[in-house]
Amino acid sequence: MRVTANSATCTVSSLCVYRAPDVFDQDDEGHVVVLDPEPPDASRAAVRDAARSCPTRSIHVDEEA
Ligand code: SF4
Repeated sequence: MRVTANSATCTVSSLCVYRAPDVFDQDDEGHVVVLDPEPPDASRAAVRDAARSCPTRSIHVDEEA
């Protein structure tokens, strides 16, 4: 799994940080930052949930990577 996020379209809702705090954080302006682009198995369900929940579709998960 490889995780990327588009901070340009992020609207600072913090949902991803709430759902997967080991993988997502926010910069000084509140925009998404990916802390761990290749998360461990234990975090993957939360990452998928965060991607599905993002209101602006700013999180991309490549399951094959
Ligand atoms: S859930 Fe989406 S819009 Fe909200 S902070 Fe995360 S990337 Fe940004």
